[in-house]
Amino acid sequence: MGRPEFLVLGAGVSGLTTAVYLAERRHAVHVVSDRAPGRTTSAAAGASWGPYLVNDPRALHWSDVTLEVLESIADVPRTGVRMVAGLEVSDDPGGPPEWATRIRDFHRCTDSELDSFRPLYRTGWHYTIPLVDMPVYLEFLADRLRAAGGTTDFRRRVESFDELLGEADCIVNCSGIGARELVPDKTLYPTRGQLLVVENPGIEEFFQDNQHGDDLTYIFPHGDQVVLGGCATDHDDSLLPDAVTADRILERCTKIRPELSNVKVLDHRVGLRPSRDTVRLELVDLAGTPLIHNYGHGSVGVSLSWGCAEAVGDLIV
Ligand SMILES: Cc1cc2nc3c(=O)[nH]c(=O)nc-3n(C[C@H](O)[C@H](O)[C@H](O)COP(=O)(O)OP(=O)(O)OC[C@H]3O[C@@H](n4cnc5c(N)ncnc54)[C@H](O)[C@@H]3O)c2cc1C
Repeated sequence: MGRPEFLVLGAGVSGLTTAVYLAERRHAVHVVSDRAPGRTTSAAAGASWGPYLVNDPRALHWSDVTLEVLESIADVPRTGVRMVAGLEVSDDPGGPPEWATRIRDFHRCTDSELDSFRPLYRTGWHYTIPLVDMPVYLEFLADRLRAAGGTTDFRRRVESFDELLGEADCIVNCSGIGARELVPDKTLYPTRGQLLVVENPGIEEFFQDNQHGDDLTYIFPHGDQVVLGGCATDHDDSLLPDAVTADRILERCTKIRPELSNVKVLDHRVGLRPSRDTVRLELVDLAGTPLIHNYGHGSVGVSLSWGCAEAVGDLIV
């Protein structure tokens, strides 16, 4: 292989999406990562589309772009993406989120629909969004990258950007929480998430609350399996599943859907969301080589992925 135009560092959703975006526009792309896509933070995500818990003013546009792409591949076999109807509840009686207008069937729950959730939740909305089975989706992206001529090395640890100088015309940094040491970026911190994967007892609709504390409750059906979450603990670096957290997740989800009470647990997943005040998406100079940072997507990396890939593309024209 000759020298690629782009070396993308990272094989999570940010790196693979950016690499696919560039490779499908006829650029020569090589992806480097110290682990396979299935072992990244991205593989641990739930994942639903929705620009939650994000301050960045660019996020709404990036999530719009992503919504359009995910909708276009939803329900196609082996993409891992499905359009799923469901319910979001909240104890905040305020109005719908800003992005509600993007969703065709978004509507407020009636009082009687909310009866079974009171007093825990006071308001709620029904809508249909893309749910993403992340391990399947990341494989789909990696295959799509190879089909577009991109190459990969998922066993290379990078200690510093300097070691990449001379290997490509442009470097794209999609290293997630790894950017904390690599850049280094002291404003980046982990927000630990944990979830369970269980056998699906027949659940077809999603459920999620939008509480902003450490404990989140969500139920995302992915065919034969259901993902149950979750938590969001700032500055916690542990990648080990915690048994107490798992029990509490199962207890909260079972209160919502009692048929989950005796389900078989298939897996526990933990990931470190790369949290930061705003996403870092900018072009800098690395000793004469353009270095594009694309990291710090916090709780919404899946939801912003295609918009951010497009923004990387816009920086190089
Ligand atoms: C439990 C949980 C649930 C979530 N749910 C959602 C959701 O519903 N919707 C949503 O939009 N988002 C969700 N998120 C957030 C989302 O998962 C992240 O924002 C996203 O995965 C970040 O992707 P990334 O590609 O930037 O980072 P990562 O997935 O962490 O990928 C980073 C890549 O860089 C590589 N790397 C890092 N450092 C080095 C190095 N020094 N050398 C070589 N390689 C390196 C890693 O190996 C990896 O390949 C969730 C996260 C968690 C943990």
